[in-house]
Amino acid sequence: MEDKKVNILISEDDIAKRITEIGNKISNDYKGKKLYVLSLLRGSFIFTADLVRKMSIDVKIGFMTTSSYGDKESSSGNVKVLSDIYDDIRGYNVLIVDDIVDTGITMKFVMEHLKKYNPESIKCCVLLDKPERRKVDIEPDYKCFTIPDVFVAGYGLNYGDYYRNIPYVFNWEKID
Ligand code: 5GP
Ligand code: MG
Repeated sequence: MEDKKVNILISEDDIAKRITEIGNKISNDYKGKKLYVLSLLRGSFIFTADLVRKMSIDVKIGFMTTSSYGDKESSSGNVKVLSDIYDDIRGYNVLIVDDIVDTGITMKFVMEHLKKYNPESIKCCVLLDKPERRKVDIEPDYKCFTIPDVFVAGYGLNYGDYYRNIPYVFNWEKID
């Protein structure tokens, strides 16, 4: 990593414990229902992989890619579908899994987009919630952690091209 002081916001251990709790809760809530986990790439690939392995019910898993920040730290407010879901989700209860809800624009967009495909229900689950930056009215149905208004990386979240593989959530301390 770069030569800056790393501040670990959420440790590997804390992430693992919380994902076990949320995985159990989702398993209870969706017991007896057809569950489809829709992972939003690329940011949620690690979270999704860990979360579905803590679920004790049958789950179909698919992926979708939307445009996001690129190299910048602020949202363009303009979401594009780069690769769409290709399963028929009629009759499925869809749980969208993403890394973070920030302004909420992406999640709101994806929820509206999926309605066209007539699933049984649509809910969302995120690793991180940054409520201070919300621009649209959305509240995640499941969330692991609430964080303040800081730009974070690690555990699937990128900074530029890198750091998705770092196993904890961190930011860099400002050096004045
Ligand atoms: P929103 O549309 O809610 O503003 O942002 C959604 C997307 O922006 C997230 O899925 C994520 O890719 C990116 N994003 C928002 N905040 C952060 C952050 O603190 N760090 C990183 N790496 N990405 C973020
Ligand atoms: Mg994302």
